[in-house]
Amino acid sequence: MLAVVKEHEGPGFAVKDVPMPEVREDDVLIRARSVGICGTDIPILAGTRVIPWPMIPGHEFAGDVAGVGSRVRGFKEGDRVTSCLVIGCGSCRYCVEGSECLCDNLVETGIHVDGAFAEYVRAPAKTVLKLKDGTSYDQGASIDPVASAYRTIRASGITTKDTVAIFGPGPIGLYAVQLAKLRGARCVISIGTGDDADRLSRALELGADYAIDSSACDVAGRVSEITGGAMADFVQDCTGAPSVVESALAIVKKRGTFAVTGLFHHPVEVNLGRVTRSEISVYGTICYTRNEFSECLDLVEDGRVRVGPVITHHFALRDMESAWEVIQRREAVKVILRP
Ligand SMILES: [Zn+2]
Ligand SMILES: [Zn+2]
Repeated sequence: MLAVVKEHEGPGFAVKDVPMPEVREDDVLIRARSVGICGTDIPILAGTRVIPWPMIPGHEFAGDVAGVGSRVRGFKEGDRVTSCLVIGCGSCRYCVEGSECLCDNLVETGIHVDGAFAEYVRAPAKTVLKLKDGTSYDQGASIDPVASAYRTIRASGITTKDTVAIFGPGPIGLYAVQLAKLRGARCVISIGTGDDADRLSRALELGADYAIDSSACDVAGRVSEITGGAMADFVQDCTGAPSVVESALAIVKKRGTFAVTGLFHHPVEVNLGRVTRSEISVYGTICYTRNEFSECLDLVEDGRVRVGPVITHHFALRDMESAWEVIQRREAVKVILRP
């Protein structure tokens, strides 16, 4: 089968024929139809994030069941499915508590084991969910970034009185905007940089009340203007960019919350005095649980969360180089591969 393989350290990847994955007794073999390229895949493909080589990345996928292991019940060939990337061990204390994204022995499809930048991908049946008839493969492949935003918003105390500010109008940030609105937030502000004009207009299309270009104005001043000086009750980072932290803390109101969804790869210097003096709560979330993934599948299937305006490009798997160029030029929001 054709696959995109990360074979070594440093930049570059190969598009080549590899053996089909072997289906073990608890696995489902999936013929991948739509596979999203995630922010997490970018450092993997660029070679700046270390994974066990050789590896097939890709964890945002949907497709058709092409084989089932001997112990698998409830799936048959031809079922249209998606799968969450988190594979918990099932027996550590976090898995037992139902927080398998914090599993002590965590395995993630496309990060620790071969993923879906391939014609076929193997996933444990416990991570696989069926799609409804009217659900597209693109919708199925979009649940992962929806669920990453969802776990953060679900853990928040957002009320109908609240102003929510979301840094980063990438896919996760655009889903966070929709989820904050669904949660009933009174006002949602999407914040991006000068490169994000197209993304910010998509945020407005998806329900944000305001969009702020941080390179064109003073973010704190603008948020103060919007909120009549009250500032934001809840601020969510969906960038993982060190420069955001100070801006985020500057727009949280006293007793407000700063939530971190973005993955920070470098240490950040933060003035924690502001956290103390303003009694700011800070928390983070990582990925999502299977339950949250399933709840997000419902939100997308019901049309309560829209994925269409987030997906900007489609490429055949064999055109991965072209997809990579579009990503490098920052022209895309979400790129979907069609293996
Ligand atoms: Zn992802
Ligand atoms: Zn575990």
